[in-house]
Amino acid sequence: MQALFDPGKLREIDSICTGKNLVILPHHKPDGDAMGASLALYNYFLPVASSVTVISPGDFPEFLEWMKGADQVLRSDADEGRAKNEIASADVIFCLDFNDPDRVQGLSNTLQSSRARKVVIDHHLEPKVFCDFTLCVPGASSTCELVYRFITESGHSQRVERNIAECLYAGIMTDTGSFRFSSMSSDAHRIIAALIDKGAVNHAIHERIFDNFSENRTRFLGHCIKDKLVVLPEYHTAYISVTMEELDTYTYRPGDTEGIVNYGLSIRGVRMAAFFSERDDMVKISFRSKGDFSVKDLAAAHFNGGGHMNAAGGRSRKSLDETVQAFINLLPRYKDALAS
Ligand code: 5GP
Ligand code: MN
Repeated sequence: MQALFDPGKLREIDSICTGKNLVILPHHKPDGDAMGASLALYNYFLPVASSVTVISPGDFPEFLEWMKGADQVLRSDADEGRAKNEIASADVIFCLDFNDPDRVQGLSNTLQSSRARKVVIDHHLEPKVFCDFTLCVPGASSTCELVYRFITESGHSQRVERNIAECLYAGIMTDTGSFRFSSMSSDAHRIIAALIDKGAVNHAIHERIFDNFSENRTRFLGHCIKDKLVVLPEYHTAYISVTMEELDTYTYRPGDTEGIVNYGLSIRGVRMAAFFSERDDMVKISFRSKGDFSVKDLAAAHFNGGGHMNAAGGRSRKSLDETVQAFINLLPRYKDALAS
């Protein structure tokens, strides 16, 4: 496997972390990849650093709580003052699974003004330069793949023990649709094999994440597919929108809406799927596509978002109905691209 990172840079990062106070920061409402990467690095640095604090900007899904160290995560929505203090006083901050400081929402200014040395490890397109060390590989399967390479190329593969292997396996798995996206290179498969050798039990991790839904969440999925899915064949598009009332009816928990967008994409002929979810102060949108139709460009141009070509997200301050209508109104403009 060819090395990805400059060995001199890795040595320098190693030397500035040993014995120091580290903060590890994933993006807002971290997903499997962001949490997997954060807790893998947490367990990796814990024996050699003076302190390691993972700060989650907002909640994270219950189905990730099994990861070693998840119970130590500082949630900025629970204690924003402490989160900001830790960021301001850290020696080194690792920014994981995002490449734009706005993705940590209310912590963005504190992050940018912190005197800490900053390292970003990420796989999204078009990274912004806001850190001292930029370990960004757009197109890589996941940030967890890059964290694995960061550790092994630093010469410390022997420190990847079972807990770290489990976190990294889970992140690669969740960010690649269980290893099926085009980003899942042969090297990423080799890394998965190495993680199994390090003690990650593949079927057990799949069960913890995918066979761990509440009854309500499964019925919510049924409701979305049966009653809420709209298919627009002339635009090769499908979407689902859900109100806060519907989320309440099914006692929504963080993570419950994750993955539902993919059901629209599984319909023959559909090239783009969207999922609109009403929240207190905004509408959260997930986009998915097949082939070379870029939902990242669509999300960035119209919905204050971004992400990857085939998986992106965005936000809207309009009402749910207005947001969905704005999306529908855009479709004629993209008709040819969606048909090709
Ligand atoms: P999801 O739909 O699973 O929330 O997100 C899909 C992808 O889009 C992820 O890679 C995520 O990082 C990215 N993404 C989601 N929401 C946003 C957003 O508001 N801004 C940007 N730049 N990326 C987002
Ligand atoms: Mn990711």
